[in-house]
Amino acid sequence: MKFRHVRQVALVVGLLLGGHYLAAQEPRGRSAPTRPGSSPRVEVPPPTSPANKSVAAPAVPAPAGRKQATTTRFPDPEWVNITTAARRLGLKLDWKVRGREAILTDKATRLEVAADRIEVDLNGQRVFLGQALLPRGGELFVTKIDLERCLVPLVRPALIGRVKRRPQVIVIDPGHGGPDKGMINERLNLFEKTFTLDTSQRLKKILEARGWKVVLTRDDDRQLKPSKADDLRRRAEIADEVEADVFVSVHFNAVEEQVEKVRGLEVFRFTPQYQPPISRAMRRLDDAQLSPGNGNDAWNSLLAHSIQNAMLTRLKLEDRGFKHERFAVLRLVSCPAVLIEGGFMSNMSEAKQIATPAYRQRLAEAIADGLSDYRSTLEKLRVTGKAATP
Ligand SMILES: [Zn+2]
Repeated sequence: MKFRHVRQVALVVGLLLGGHYLAAQEPRGRSAPTRPGSSPRVEVPPPTSPANKSVAAPAVPAPAGRKQATTTRFPDPEWVNITTAARRLGLKLDWKVRGREAILTDKATRLEVAADRIEVDLNGQRVFLGQALLPRGGELFVTKIDLERCLVPLVRPALIGRVKRRPQVIVIDPGHGGPDKGMINERLNLFEKTFTLDTSQRLKKILEARGWKVVLTRDDDRQLKPSKADDLRRRAEIADEVEADVFVSVHFNAVEEQVEKVRGLEVFRFTPQYQPPISRAMRRLDDAQLSPGNGNDAWNSLLAHSIQNAMLTRLKLEDRGFKHERFAVLRLVSCPAVLIEGGFMSNMSEAKQIATPAYRQRLAEAIADGLSDYRSTLEKLRVTGKAATP
């Protein structure tokens, strides 16, 4: 997978080292895939169309003292038109608004997509892509990265490829600990670190009863290393040491504003290479950096969506979406990984719920169900999947 992006990496390195700030260019399709037959044909949006804001806007300032143009050229993503994407996904395409809004369906799937949006609706659940869909010439275009590493794993996991072994070893990571209390609800005197540990311990018991070998990154109230960066690195190292098949980091959320309005569940996968994390709409040159977590982009998506689906089905809480970020634990871990936000501690009614053992037990059961779904999907892939690596 690394070698397919050599040209893009070379371009980025050239930009960083040489400081050539070129005029911003609109996104355009690159050459066809290097392995004929392995991927859908890449369509090229018309060259006369205006630039996509998220791609063309300069995000890296010029070095101080230079009097050059301050625009920056990013590696061009490959775009696939929605007609081709629908074929790849085995779904029927219907236009709600020609060139702007489309519905892709089969008996079990309903996928709604819209121009200029990163959020799509998959069977009533919120899924956030890496880049907004691009409307051009009566068609809609999705990036090849979003198609192959997000939509294909969610809709047609059999196309990802065969897996080496049945997932059996799981590392559960209770977020924070020791001096790092995580999110705090001062009014109720609640600390996130307490609930991440308790939920993880409950999850461990459930999973062991279902035949998983479970390792916790911490089993008491402590930080793993004195510095936060080392602590996070250590959590990922544990997964590597025990050769984990899955890594699940458990957290609870908080916001500072609109505390009574913001509530619900979120799951995070690691952001694919070349895409901006969801908290930053703008692309940056360092998005091109390849991290260990990118080795499992497709599996990360399948894992996160399996857990999102199970949590929403069981807990009936607000769906804040299937998202992606470059969180350190997700970046450093080399097996499929997910970070779960099991509700908002800043929201009084959710905080009170999180503080009850009954809620945390239901949350743990929901996560366990998502992991069972993920495992059974992978078991089917072992039998039916075509040879490929994620
Ligand atoms: Zn946290």
